[in-house]
Amino acid sequence: MASDYFTIDSILGQEKAKKMLRRAVANNRLGHAYLFRGPVGVGKKTLARAFGNYLNCQNPTDSQDACTICQSCRKLKSGNQPDLLVIEPEGVSIKIKQIRELKHALTFPPYEAKYRIVLIADIHTMRREAANSLLKILEEPPPGNQLVLTGDEASEILPTITSRCQIIPFTGLPHELVEEKLIAGGLAPAAAASLTAITYGSLGQARMMADRELLETRRAILETLSELKQANSTSVEAVFQLAEQAAALNDRLPELLDLIKLWFRDLIIIASNQPEGIVNQDLLDITGKTAKSWPINALLARLELFDLAKKQLARNCNKTLVCEDLFFGLL
Ligand SMILES: [Zn+2]
Repeated sequence: MASDYFTIDSILGQEKAKKMLRRAVANNRLGHAYLFRGPVGVGKKTLARAFGNYLNCQNPTDSQDACTICQSCRKLKSGNQPDLLVIEPEGVSIKIKQIRELKHALTFPPYEAKYRIVLIADIHTMRREAANSLLKILEEPPPGNQLVLTGDEASEILPTITSRCQIIPFTGLPHELVEEKLIAGGLAPAAAASLTAITYGSLGQARMMADRELLETRRAILETLSELKQANSTSVEAVFQLAEQAAALNDRLPELLDLIKLWFRDLIIIASNQPEGIVNQDLLDITGKTAKSWPINALLARLELFDLAKKQLARNCNKTLVCEDLFFGLL
């Protein structure tokens, strides 16, 4: 369980967030509740845990971090973390039942640590009823509890929540750092560069998309689409096969569609003679062959087909049928 233990300095980037938290501790002005707000996958939850480790460390370093060797740090490293409460969405949202359970847990003092760390993740998924139930705790948590909420910057968070938290802003990570990590994780440099650009420097998202199956399906589908387009063929058989291949990704299908859409965006960039803006560096072989197969107006119209397909998927339409429609439309 040692992988669950983090120090603040071990976390990539987010210097501003780290500085704000450290300054609050140094000035003895810890907020009741922090809201870590920023893009998905840039280290919000990890920093929340690292911050907790630091708060509970018995002998913090001069650079304001957990020492990793005191009794508290050793316990946390061994995975023994009775004073860490993590609340995450059940299904699509955080439920009022979870907040009631949390309130009950907070009627007891922390088990052994100086601070019980209460991490409420993805607060943007919380609906009004559950949020109302949380407000009192946010305003005045029982002593010995440090609340940290995380939320997506792109989604709305109820103002009743944000107004009761100190907001710590997180940003997309520097691209070279993300690329380095992805390459260290075994990804080819060109693919690492593409994914980093696609996800605007979100290591978490890039890692998710680095899934080999997804990338291979993307390449296979784009190769076939490009061949069909050049042969000026709308082989029904071939399109059916493509649709089945795509639909087999199930929950990851929307991600695949995002990736394919980004490739069409590259075609638009080429058609408008701005090749320096190309994102998919690992698909240049296919892009080169296909460039200018579609007139620019046709490309722009095709981008809308992706939005339509994603809406249909969100409504639980049959995945294979949605993909068939999309691929016929793209050709
Ligand atoms: Zn320590």
